[in-house]
Amino acid sequence: MKIISPTYILTPNAILESHSIVFDQKIVDILPTNDALQKYTNLEVIETKDNSLLMHGLINPHIHLEFSANKSSLKYGSFLPWLYSVIEKRDEVIGNCDTNCIEKTLDESLKSGTTTLGAISSYALDLEACSKAKSKVVFFNELIGSQAVMADTLYGDFIKRLDESKRCKSDSFFPAIAIHSPYSVHPILTKRAVSLAKEQNLALSAHFLESSAEKEWLQSSSGEFKKFFKDLLKSDTAVSDSIEFLDILKDKPTLLTHCGFVDEEHLNLIKKSSHHIVHCPISNRLLGNSLLDIDQIEKKEIPFSLGTDGKSSNYSLDMFEEYKTALFMHKDKDLESFAKDLIIKTNIDSAKALGLNTGSIDIGKDADLLLVNLDFEVNEDFFTHLILHKKDIEMVFVNGE
Ligand SMILES: [Zn+2]
Repeated sequence: MKIISPTYILTPNAILESHSIVFDQKIVDILPTNDALQKYTNLEVIETKDNSLLMHGLINPHIHLEFSANKSSLKYGSFLPWLYSVIEKRDEVIGNCDTNCIEKTLDESLKSGTTTLGAISSYALDLEACSKAKSKVVFFNELIGSQAVMADTLYGDFIKRLDESKRCKSDSFFPAIAIHSPYSVHPILTKRAVSLAKEQNLALSAHFLESSAEKEWLQSSSGEFKKFFKDLLKSDTAVSDSIEFLDILKDKPTLLTHCGFVDEEHLNLIKKSSHHIVHCPISNRLLGNSLLDIDQIEKKEIPFSLGTDGKSSNYSLDMFEEYKTALFMHKDKDLESFAKDLIIKTNIDSAKALGLNTGSIDIGKDADLLLVNLDFEVNEDFFTHLILHKKDIEMVFVNGE
């Protein structure tokens, strides 16, 4: 077992001083350092510097690693032009990121403090790197396909990828299912995938109401998506509507990503089904989408967390950058209490949605920890400063290693 006695320990309820944490794969004890020296002997001592902080590892529940090579290949500013650019440049962007590139991206994410990722995998090109990653990975095999004639082929390919990922299951790699979105997956396929997720107790994720174009298409088969579906998929009408989609998901709590265009009826259904909302403020800004109404989802007591989305719609996979952006974009929220919620609450809720025993420093939780050297004084605006200032992350532990 290991012992660490930093200047500060960040727990959900307090910032502890003169305390130690004893851990192996899990957090075994949190106690005053004086008591720890009496109670425990022969522990491996982790050295720390002055003004060091031990905090929980961060969770990024929504990322697309296969698109990590993108810098300026895709068109930003508005959703449909971006989507056309993804289709046009897909082979080039994906082709430029081999396993080595995905390993580097995983490393970059870990060093920025993320110990758990929800990786949406479209083609399983990231399976090898994710199954060997040092961070925890919930590997969401993505199902896509709106045409009924292609349903069996696409479902077969999805099952093949899911089965391959199941063979890699470990204490840090968890196979899971993603349904791309209500507009791009036929309800027959969605139903099959949801049944599978329920039967096998796999985490489930879906993009939901990301753009105004999506909302219009699902509501009335009109708007910017009309031409897109006619030209590319020879289709005139949406395969599903947003309420029908939520009805299929009603008995399986799901991570719904974006939700920028939800209304009261959607939120009531999301609450009733115990879904979780993943908010990606940088991605939403870059693709010209609406900002999530956090006050409204807090009023309904719907849990939410932040995610970076992929480098297909972000310049960074650093969760602190995402928190900082959220802090500035949601300008009406109280600064310090919102900063605290971003650091503490969203990680606890994110772990719960992913079905993992992580996201906070508590006895019995997995020892997913960050040792951070602070370059500012800890005071009543601690969480704001933790988000604002550049982090010197000295060590990262995943399952105590
Ligand atoms: Zn996404």
